[in-house]
Amino acid sequence: MKNIYILGAAGSIGLQTLDLVRKHKKELNLVGISLGNNHALNEEILSTHKVSIVCLRSQEYMEKYQIEYPNTTFVHGDEGLLDLVRYPIKGAVVNALSGSAGLIPTIEAIKSRKDILLANKETLVMAGDIIKKLLNNYNVKLYPIDSEHSAIWQCLQNEVSDTVDKIVITASGGSFRDLSRNDLKHVRLEDALNHPNWSMGDKITIDSATMMNKGLEVIEAHYLFDLPYEKIETVLHKESAVHGLVYFQDGSIKACISSSDMRIPIQYALFYPHRMPYESKFVLTDLTFKQMDFKRYPLLSLAYKVGETGGLLPTVMNAANEAAVKLFLNQHISFLDIEKIVFDTVDSFNNNLYPTLEEIIQTDDIIQQSIFKHYGKR
Ligand code: MG
Repeated sequence: MKNIYILGAAGSIGLQTLDLVRKHKKELNLVGISLGNNHALNEEILSTHKVSIVCLRSQEYMEKYQIEYPNTTFVHGDEGLLDLVRYPIKGAVVNALSGSAGLIPTIEAIKSRKDILLANKETLVMAGDIIKKLLNNYNVKLYPIDSEHSAIWQCLQNEVSDTVDKIVITASGGSFRDLSRNDLKHVRLEDALNHPNWSMGDKITIDSATMMNKGLEVIEAHYLFDLPYEKIETVLHKESAVHGLVYFQDGSIKACISSSDMRIPIQYALFYPHRMPYESKFVLTDLTFKQMDFKRYPLLSLAYKVGETGGLLPTVMNAANEAAVKLFLNQHISFLDIEKIVFDTVDSFNNNLYPTLEEIIQTDDIIQQSIFKHYGKR
């Protein structure tokens, strides 16, 4: 029996993890979850899963739930997330939080000696060096859930790391992949949210359309697999069937293929190194690969430069993007404004190459607040 905590249980990755918890009742024991603001969904999750500790987003329903579920501990807010990951029952933490809010809970989970199954990219983008040191100091494992990184991780099993020539992360191209840059001027929010292959949360769906998501994934891969940026390639692959490839120095290439169903990488991380049965309807059809178009997707090109530079710059890029995507989702700015905000913010920032964790957290907040202030909205 493996004990599991899920941060962001009501999000897309969280709900799919809950599916697997239900499916593997004998193998997985759900200890704690954090929930979001969707009250109806929270009710449904709480009535289906018996858990020891629940973190609510706000205080609003604390009393009501505490009466309904007297054997469960309820906590709330950012502080509550820390109570959750510090809960004194050993286990692995699935971090499926969206955005920079995922960083501190990862750090506290590591300090509580809980292994991390990571879907929150921001953790490594903002503080990759700090996280790696902590993993080492506390002897804690971190496994990827992101489909591309899971694919590469699987390809690297039983391989010697210095025989790797390069890795390749595939990109579907997102919801506007058939549009030119000129066409992007007047695209609508509802079209941006309509991803051709994957069903995901709003933030990541927009990040896919701008290719910022791939940029964050490149930085994530740099830390996960200890590879320099020149050994991390991206390629356009609209079928989202091959999720990642590894080129070896003997000329062999390994690829990991599956249907675009996040339950597959989640399950792999949950049971690693065992492969549990899972019914998947994948049919091998024609697969296409196209060279990445950095002119069409300038944010990806920026992410390589920002990752290479390091320091506070990845945090700044991520914070600017997070704020801009929020403004776009609330229909205050246009789609192309997202890029403009990210470029302007990165260009005008005075980098610090060796930031502390406190400086990282503070910078994330300052950048996001200044963008919201500039637009008078959030
Ligand atoms: Mg991905």
